[in-house]
Amino acid sequence: MQQADTLAWTGDRIAFDALVERLTAILVSHGASRHVAAIIARNCAMCERDGCTSHGVFRMAGYASSLGCRWVDGHAVPAIEDAAPAYCRVDARNGFAQPALEAARELSVEKARRTGLAAIAIRGSHHLSALWPDVEPFARAGLIALSVVNSFRCTVPHGGGSALFGTNPVAFAVPRSGDDPLVFDMATSAIPNGDVQIAARTGERLPEGVAVDASGVPTTDPDAVLDGGALLTFGGHKGSALSMMVELLAAGLTGGHFSHEFDWSGHDGAQTPHTGQFVLLIDPQHAGGRRFGERVETLIKDMRSAGVQRLPGDRRYRNRRRAEREGIHIGAEERARLDALLAR
Ligand code: NDP
Repeated sequence: MQQADTLAWTGDRIAFDALVERLTAILVSHGASRHVAAIIARNCAMCERDGCTSHGVFRMAGYASSLGCRWVDGHAVPAIEDAAPAYCRVDARNGFAQPALEAARELSVEKARRTGLAAIAIRGSHHLSALWPDVEPFARAGLIALSVVNSFRCTVPHGGGSALFGTNPVAFAVPRSGDDPLVFDMATSAIPNGDVQIAARTGERLPEGVAVDASGVPTTDPDAVLDGGALLTFGGHKGSALSMMVELLAAGLTGGHFSHEFDWSGHDGAQTPHTGQFVLLIDPQHAGGRRFGERVETLIKDMRSAGVQRLPGDRRYRNRRRAEREGIHIGAEERARLDALLAR
């Protein structure tokens, strides 16, 4: 095993499949089933490959400790309920959200193709990753996909004096003919919590205007945010309204916990928010009128003509192509942390 692992590396780079295998082994060693471990490992490796390091291998310690303290059930088998022609309910049964979404994929795609729409309402789930890996595959299958997930109480609603919302991301993907899907994926907090943790680890300051300390005073110190402080929403009341929408769809509608509702204080090591996730699929084939695909290309062309150099997703796809050629870069410190996680 040790020799095979060594062979998987070329200097500080590792091939995607080898990284997935490595991360799967770590998650299994911390109590996940091989099925669940493989899904989370692939998701995590995709984030690292695409340069989304705040949700890449950096998160493995969080997955491991949440599994280890039994906050999340690494063997959960999601229950799928065919609730209505365009509605699919999923009880993740205290497991990760990604295996729950995977379990609902076939039924929901079939619904979207038949009715034009499909809602996937996942509850009782843990989500600690980026959202784009959840929506991009639907767009590759020709569907428009929108997803929201709430997280844990760490963001102050606009006009409020204390944290209530999570960092609550929104992701959106549309198919393109002959090109990678157009995808955006963004936290509704001014910055994601992962960036705060990375800044605390590397000793960097946060940008101005994104966070407050435990007394509500603006701060750029990541430790002050992690030590009882909170994040602000992006764009003031506008980001706050979107964050509220995420709470309502991902938790209020699905039956999951709001970000401020679950109590993980009794689970030392819990790091995965126990909430819900909502996904909406639309089949543009039912739209009629001018073909949606052509309209997507028209808008992109017009944006380019207006001077736009970078579309959402461009950076990720560029990183992906590079990683496919050269392997995924994992620094020595991160590699040592992974080795320690497997050894534990
Ligand atoms: P960013 O602000 O880095 O990026 C948001 C989006 O904007 C991305 O699609 C990005 O594309 C695009 N983008 C960034 N800069 C530009 C630019 N100059 N021009 C055009 N497009 C641009 O993301 P966040 O920091 O807000 O979020 C990071 C991640 O954190 C997300 O993946 C999110 O899902 C995740 N998250 C997960 C949570 C959870 O509980 N599971 C909670 C909160 C966040 P590109 O990707 O190509 O850079």
